[in-house]
Amino acid sequence: MPKGQEILKGKVAVVTGSTSGIGLGIARALAAEGADIMLNGFGDPAEIEAIRADLAGEFGGRVAYNGADLSKPAETKGLIEAATNELGRVDVLVNNAGIQFVAPVEEFPDDKWELVVAINLSACFYAIKAALPQMKSRNWGRIVNIASAHGLTASRDKAAYVSAKHGLVGLTKVVALETAETGVTCNAICPGWVLTPLVQKQIDALAAREGLSNAEAGRKLLSERQPSKQFVTPEQLGQLAVFMCSDGAAELRGAAVNMDGGWCAQ
Ligand code: NAD
Repeated sequence: MPKGQEILKGKVAVVTGSTSGIGLGIARALAAEGADIMLNGFGDPAEIEAIRADLAGEFGGRVAYNGADLSKPAETKGLIEAATNELGRVDVLVNNAGIQFVAPVEEFPDDKWELVVAINLSACFYAIKAALPQMKSRNWGRIVNIASAHGLTASRDKAAYVSAKHGLVGLTKVVALETAETGVTCNAICPGWVLTPLVQKQIDALAAREGLSNAEAGRKLLSERQPSKQFVTPEQLGQLAVFMCSDGAAELRGAAVNMDGGWCAQ
């Protein structure tokens, strides 16, 4: 990825769930703009270290990693503290970590409901609560919440995910109102289908259920919802996040911007 105009030089960005998929795409885009990055997420320690070293080497900024489990409020607060201690401050918070679980409501396991809501919604609240005071004190901050087309529309069998993502769009609006007279903004990005491990699992399930190849199942998944029939990419979402962090977006407040190949236009 080419270096950007370095509009985030001197800023520190925390990107949750950035060891994979969309979060990694956003971390790369922010690093290309000169931001120092706190990575977070699960994975093989050697692979995570390779990602960390790669980002630092490619863009020349500081890149740290913290393995906080965001299903736990204390660890979420600890992530913001660690970023502040190790990188000096938190100017940009991208709440991206998320998981999916699929089952009809009456069969939906209680513990899966709790976990999806904890990671996809509650962790965003705890991270915002922890980061906001220092953003307000400097009168500059950017909070970008990765919701989903499922934050604006619903699908069957996704009770916890759809509820959490609608909740996150609501949280985005509340925080935007409470910061409206400051230099801190809070917005949501609502992606359509992006080909990441989270979606690959759903493609695998569809392929197994209907006896389809991987490619056929991918096309079927897209054709059910996404008029473009193309996956949105982490790089495209990274560029939207960069825009939300730019001066041009200073009055973008409480928006839920869908980048979804036309999904929500239907
Ligand atoms: P992914 O599975 O590739 O990445 C998820 C990231 O979250 C990983 O880094 C993982 O380690 C991390 N994570 C999971 N549980 C965690 C926990 N308890 N604590 C800390 N980190 C944790 O998924 P993705 O598709 O890149 O999804 C990223 C976000 O985008 C999610 O919020 C997801 O709901 C949202 N989203 C994805 C799509 C899509 O089509 N892929 C569409 C709309 C929204």
